[in-house]
Amino acid sequence: MDRANIVESSKSSAAGKPIRCRAAVARKAGEPLVMEEVIVAPPKFEEVRIKIICTSLCHSDVTYLKLKDPSACFPRILGHEAVGVVESVGEGVTGFREGDTVIPIFVPECEECRDCKSKKSNLCSKFAFKISPWLHDGTSRFTDLKGQTLYHFMFVSSFVEYTVVHVANVIKLDSPIPPNRACLLSCGVSTGVGSAWRSANVEEGSTVAIFGLGSIGLAVAEGARLCGAAKIIGIDLNPEKFEIAKAFGVTDFVDSRGCGDKRVSQIINEMTSGGADYCFECVGKAFLVEEAYACCRKGWGKTIVMGVDKPDSMLTFSSAEVLIQGKTIMGSVFGGLKPKSDIPILIKRYMDKELELDKFVTHEVSFEDINKAFDLLLEGKSLRCVIWMDK
Ligand SMILES: [Zn+2]
Ligand SMILES: [Zn+2]
Repeated sequence: MDRANIVESSKSSAAGKPIRCRAAVARKAGEPLVMEEVIVAPPKFEEVRIKIICTSLCHSDVTYLKLKDPSACFPRILGHEAVGVVESVGEGVTGFREGDTVIPIFVPECEECRDCKSKKSNLCSKFAFKISPWLHDGTSRFTDLKGQTLYHFMFVSSFVEYTVVHVANVIKLDSPIPPNRACLLSCGVSTGVGSAWRSANVEEGSTVAIFGLGSIGLAVAEGARLCGAAKIIGIDLNPEKFEIAKAFGVTDFVDSRGCGDKRVSQIINEMTSGGADYCFECVGKAFLVEEAYACCRKGWGKTIVMGVDKPDSMLTFSSAEVLIQGKTIMGSVFGGLKPKSDIPILIKRYMDKELELDKFVTHEVSFEDINKAFDLLLEGKSLRCVIWMDK
């Protein structure tokens, strides 16, 4: 790389040239991120380079920081919830230009393939969603000052002042929504709210059971509340979570450690006189998916799987029961939301004071203090910590 050509991040008009700027790099499994300068290449075909305004920390960032061999992938730039401004655009980009405020989203939407054109799916087949260390063309835009390649994360990589993202992973933000609220819609909150709204299609007056009251579970509750659910049961092994959960619309609580000789599903079946209309698994344990399935109502009950268990974990059901009970079980990636059309609706509902995003933001820190955000999440003290790049 021609060093003389690299533009300092503080200077303008870097279009077409590499930019040198600060990044928080995940260098070793489980260790704090390292603040260092990196080189961000210009965007290639159908890509945009984005100056990040703020980013927030999601559990997946922590999960992938902790991953050890063989699935580990370091050095890597994590982060996938963000808001930024387009700094420059690559060849073939239409619909975005320099200065546009945008939200990067890990779920690609090409808007052209059979799946993107269908109302029934948000799983693009031109750019399949996977946890890849690269952008869609199988290469990286990041190098460190020694010339070593740094890996991408979830097609976004927002723990850096400038990142490069494919246009299939970006939506334009045409709303005065504050960036420290809009960034939440990149992943966690949208996933939870969307799963109640789009995947389950929760109806007014229905009963909902949520397994796991972490930030995703609380976002499911928020979505179910918006849809008009009458009873929202939260299940968690930490009873302290019930107080917090009330603010998100949870009406009833089941302490999974205090069920005596009964199974949680038995208790939910009793509380709902035969099963909840919608059950959500937000922890990532196969046995909890089975429990959720066991307490959704026969005939029309839906179980929505959102938690990520180990790759080799399997579900076990009696096939006779599946037949006789007539229930549905489904997976939900990004809450079933189509980023380009559904996120603007969620933004409008926030601006109309219906969707409550403020209560998810428990902390805000500057970029230098990004490791504090990890500590707060690991200690269970924060739902969402917003990280400001310029403060
Ligand atoms: Zn597509
Ligand atoms: Zn996430």
